[in-house]
Amino acid sequence: MTVTELKIIDDRQVFASFTTRQTTAYERREALAREAEGIGGAVVWPHLVHGTDIAVVGEESQGKGLVVFEDHDGAVTDVPGIALTVTCGDCLPVYAWDPVHRAIGLVHAGWRGILAGIAAEMVYVMGREYGSRPEDLQVRIGPGIDACCFEVKEDCYGLFLDKYPWAEDYMYRRPDGSFTLDLKGINLEILTLCGVEDALASERCTCCEEDVFYSWRSRKEKDRMLAYIYIKVEGTPGFKSAEDPSL
Ligand SMILES: [Zn+2]
Repeated sequence: MTVTELKIIDDRQVFASFTTRQTTAYERREALAREAEGIGGAVVWPHLVHGTDIAVVGEESQGKGLVVFEDHDGAVTDVPGIALTVTCGDCLPVYAWDPVHRAIGLVHAGWRGILAGIAAEMVYVMGREYGSRPEDLQVRIGPGIDACCFEVKEDCYGLFLDKYPWAEDYMYRRPDGSFTLDLKGINLEILTLCGVEDALASERCTCCEEDVFYSWRSRKEKDRMLAYIYIKVEGTPGFKSAEDPSL
């Protein structure tokens, strides 16, 4: 069976997913927006800039279809039926779910965003907006480039070491003298330092699995995967195609 999406979180209240190369981020987001109309919801589309600004999405966005936030790399909401999205080539999607305060977050974390601390910023913003405590959060890092493929120059590695001296544990030297970085490991370490106890990362590498994912770094592909998460709307089927068991 061809897999069009990988489920990241699927429980009674929340659904989170990551598409494969069987569709494009653009197509999937358009489909989600059509479905959002049917349930009076919305689809949040941050225009990514590798920064740390996170949009706070409230009820005012309901029923508005595609809601764009310029110059943001993620969003948070506690409104059911609002799907948060980010696009990823090899960058990491970081999903958060707080079942205690019923709030979600999703950010796009490339190396610049990770260096700037975007995952920590999401934990902070969810705390400020919804009272989420780090220990309440389930955080999931989706597929993305892994240590096998994320080669960096010494200057990039140096930036990480300056900010996070412990990042040395996540650097690997190849036989040819080049360096690679484990961005998922660094993100998990940052989350742990924030007090998040339930954080897991997918072991799938978007760069290696060329039959499954698009990759900017390995093949300069311009298409992207779509990461999305939403709180289910009680009494409605929600975003129908996402609930399709054939996915
Ligand atoms: Zn790889």
